Amino acid sequence: MTDKPIFVTQPFLPPLDEYVPYLEEIWDSKILTNGGQMHQRFERALCEYLGVEHISLFNNGTIALLAALQELRVTGEVITTPYSFVATSHSLLWKGAKPVFVDIDPVSLNLDPQKIEAAITPQTTAIMPVHCYGNPCDTRAIKAIADLYNLKVIYDAAHAFGVEDHAGSILNHGDLSVLSFHATKVFTTFEGGAVICPDAKSKQRLDYIKNFGFQNEVSVVAPGINGKLSEVNAAMGLLQLKYFDQIVTRRKDIDAYYRRCLAGVSGIVIPDRERQVVDNYAYFPILVESDFGISRDELYELMLSDNIYTRRYFYPLISEFPMYRSLPSASTNNLPVASAVSRKILCLPIYPALENTDVLRVVDVIRNV
Ligand SMILES: *Cc1c(COP(=O)(O)O)cnc(C)c1O
Repeated sequence: MTDKPIFVTQPFLPPLDEYVPYLEEIWDSKILTNGGQMHQRFERALCEYLGVEHISLFNNGTIALLAALQELRVTGEVITTPYSFVATSHSLLWKGAKPVFVDIDPVSLNLDPQKIEAAITPQTTAIMPVHCYGNPCDTRAIKAIADLYNLKVIYDAAHAFGVEDHAGSILNHGDLSVLSFHATKVFTTFEGGAVICPDAKSKQRLDYIKNFGFQNEVSVVAPGINGKLSEVNAAMGLLQLKYFDQIVTRRKDIDAYYRRCLAGVSGIVIPDRERQVVDNYAYFPILVESDFGISRDELYELMLSDNIYTRRYFYPLISEFPMYRSLPSASTNNLPVASAVSRKILCLPIYPALENTDVLRVVDVIRNV
């Protein structure tokens, strides 16, 4: 007999009867996609909620990343982190750009600004950092380097919905920031994504790019793609937004409970979060150090045997996958911190429906080692 499964994440689904009126509105309008009522309302609601000026919705975060690179005409080499979901670098390959991996900071687990300059060559056109686990990058240091070398900055903010730093929304940094609304993310529209733009002109161009490049019925102004978010997805976003504060409040409690329970467990380190003013508690990463007693992989297996799903997120590093590992910047020597962290990291279950008794079950496995 094993206990009920505890998944690493689970989407928050609002009551179904609250979704139905939105669907009725879509059925009545007969407009299913191409920037209908729901889409327009969702864009406005997001701008207001997130505290950003302009947003262009997309059908997923990966296409949004591609569109952002297209909009900024990124070519050549792009400096990025190996410690992320593989879509970050894949978007560069799809654009024909070459990822150049730079190591991460051991505390923030984000791109280490101090190591960026050494990786810049005459071919470098951009930096693509990730706000890993929703932890803000050192945006000030990255901006200083980008300004000095005239580089674009595209933030992969897939984990950072609702996060704020000293200056307000984390999404206002860089040339463009990209969100994902995938089912596994803290805020979801089933599938979905967005690009946060600094001005109306770049939003306009991104709107063209996601609709094949159509400016009007007869002119195509860019080699666009089909990146449109449908009306049912936009409606889900509108409904989900109503619950987002509640979602974050519950996540915050779980985060605090984990921290209380794991404090003083030797060999378990909870990475510090320094720059948040408003957090979204999207993940709960721990580092399993060598003095813990068993390895990270052994702990992962031990959890599994108790029907608890955790994630070795991010392991392997992006730079270890076959399409990247022959790049000079992919060598372990170039990425000592990321390589070490990726072998120690474990993300524990966190989502609104997770109960305190579930958290205790997870914590007990760790404490009983
Ligand atoms: C989820 C994720 C993406 C991709 O987003 P999709 O909406 O799944 O396409 C990109 N980057 C990071 C860091 C992610 O976590």
